[in-house]
Amino acid sequence: MGSNRTIVWFRRDLRIEDNPALAAAARDGSVFPVYIWCPKEEQQFYPGRVSRWWLKQSLVHLDQSLKSLGARLVFIKTDSTLNALLECINAIQATKVVFNHLYDPVSLVRDHNIKEKLVELGISVKSYNGDLLYEPWEVYNDKRHAFTTFNPFWQKCLHKQMEPVSLIPPWQLIPAEGKVEKCSIEDLGLENELEKPSNALLGRAWSPGWSNADKALTEFMDKHLLHYSMNKQKVGGDSTSLLSPYLHFGELSVRKVFQTARVKQISWANEGNSVGEESVTLFLRAIGLREYSRYLCFNFPFTHERALLGHLSFFPWNADPANFKTWRQGRTGYPLVDAGMRELWATGWMHNRIRIIVSSFAVKMLLLPWKWGMKYFWDTLLDADLECDILGWQYISGGLPDGHELERLDDPEILGAKFDPEGEYVRQWLPELARMPTEWIHHPWNAPLNVLRASGVELGQNYPKPIIDIDLARERLTQAIFKMWGAEAAAKAGSSDARDDEVVVDNSHSIENLDIPKAVFQGKAPCASISANDQKVPALQAVQDPKNELPIRKRRKCMEENGKNLENSVNHENDSRVSNADQDTCSTADSSSSKKQCSTSTYSFSVPQQCSSSSNLKWPWQEQVDMEQSSGKDGATGG
Ligand SMILES: Cc1cc2nc3c(=O)[nH]c(=O)nc-3n(C[C@H](O)[C@H](O)[C@H](O)COP(=O)(O)OP(=O)(O)OC[C@H]3O[C@@H](n4cnc5c(N)ncnc54)[C@H](O)[C@@H]3O)c2cc1C
Repeated sequence: MGSNRTIVWFRRDLRIEDNPALAAAARDGSVFPVYIWCPKEEQQFYPGRVSRWWLKQSLVHLDQSLKSLGARLVFIKTDSTLNALLECINAIQATKVVFNHLYDPVSLVRDHNIKEKLVELGISVKSYNGDLLYEPWEVYNDKRHAFTTFNPFWQKCLHKQMEPVSLIPPWQLIPAEGKVEKCSIEDLGLENELEKPSNALLGRAWSPGWSNADKALTEFMDKHLLHYSMNKQKVGGDSTSLLSPYLHFGELSVRKVFQTARVKQISWANEGNSVGEESVTLFLRAIGLREYSRYLCFNFPFTHERALLGHLSFFPWNADPANFKTWRQGRTGYPLVDAGMRELWATGWMHNRIRIIVSSFAVKMLLLPWKWGMKYFWDTLLDADLECDILGWQYISGGLPDGHELERLDDPEILGAKFDPEGEYVRQWLPELARMPTEWIHHPWNAPLNVLRASGVELGQNYPKPIIDIDLARERLTQAIFKMWGAEAAAKAGSSDARDDEVVVDNSHSIENLDIPKAVFQGKAPCASISANDQKVPALQAVQDPKNELPIRKRRKCMEENGKNLENSVNHENDSRVSNADQDTCSTADSSSSKKQCSTSTYSFSVPQQCSSSSNLKWPWQEQVDMEQSSGKDGATGG
């Protein structure tokens, strides 16, 4: 064992097993494990109540595990992570700082800056891959461009050599001693007194912590994985793995999940069990989507605020806070949507299918900006994960070349019949519809008056009438798309490279501005400590080729033809919600060349304030429906 004194900076890698940063520090000498909580740096991505509850439980769990190995986890609350790290370095006379990589836009910038600063001060810093099967800078196509669709990305991943899991965790840690201004877990302020009663309910359903994650993985592999392909469309119950919060907080090594599932697949293949084989393929594909979410954020660092496909920049969003509130409260009058939104509020979790349904409703039926929905999910999900959230919302809103088409609008009534055929999910979350016969439960507005009366349902009184009629919504969506095309064409005619930022002017009074530090786009000089495995930042990539093409979604021919008629009737006046300054299309691969442009753009992520303020809430759709996953057709997050 070496004589280094190493600070292990924990973030979203709250585990002992297969934790490369911790393992390297333990091999090298004494360790000083620290968790630094800096709400100021989280900015608008400050985690929501349920997410903070999970984090708190998980940190307590990790501290207990570290204690049993000989070292305590030091908690620090601060206004500056860098200062806190420097304090720790001085206190223990550290020779090294180690951590595992994160890929969300806030962390990418912060980690890069901190690393640069520490290296400048002569402190050795080393970072590791603790969150992914492959680093996002390791997977490129034959032309060294980043992939912009999921299937080829995942195929490439599946053919790459993977680092083996280091299952044997350190059996003993030698603590590095030093006096720092630490605080208790309570003092971190992750949970306030008012939140405790509601949070206590979460503890009945979920057990955060890395060893619980391990148990959940074993149970899923032993009991549920075999039928994953058959069960995954069932929206109620635990038809999927429920591993997302564990994976988000790094309580489970994704390499371990992958390798455990692969072992099952090989053994089922040997037994001729095709159902099992298919289930593993689909489950691994889900894990691949998580990989892809990080890949997109890394290679297209603007995607947390602008869609990958530039045309959405011209979409005339209906930024109506009242509709947004109705959607959040689950009062749209569409039972499946309302049930999903109430489940989200009550439990902090929803099945992928329900996430697709409620998010599509917000974007396609209400024309609400996808970024509003993304932020609301961020605030309310137990597994709130910026990259997965971004991928999900872009997937449903036509922002990805291989996601749902913008013009696709599924009827919630038909979706209800398909995914909740007995109406049990709706009955569970909408007690006011509990007595509705199954035949009408997904479209109570069509039910005969005597049926409504017998069920105790009075539309407009104890259950809302539909917020918008489906046919009207379709017409409005079509008009909005033509307006978008018109604006896009006008911008192209005006200047070849002038495109709009995806700006949504918030018409509520209070605006939260996105204030992401711009360093990602600034093309800083590589920091001195960089080794082959070290964290890279997008600005450091040398894979860009100016000739690289941007992803383009082709318009459907039938829409174009209809458009010729409709365009005459649609007013092409300049919509005030669309600005004229998009430099977009820092595509993956040419993110470097467009980076400079991006750095001058003004960021405009704004969400009505009440989105973040949970106290405003009163409560705790065509046959085309997602064949992507089962058919293997492109489709990023089809579930
Ligand atoms: C609009 C929208 C927003 C979403 N926001 C989030 C989010 O904030 N956090 C989050 O973890 N997932 C998010 N997802 C993805 C997905 O819904 C959840 O990961 C999944 O429902 C979690 O349940 P599970 O663990 O039982 O999944 P399983 O089906 O058992 O999948 C195993 C793991 O694979 C990953 N995964 C599965 N599906 C996806 C997917 N479509 N995209 C990315 N990763 C996936 C997750 O880590 C998941 O735990 C979102 C999807 C949509 C459509």
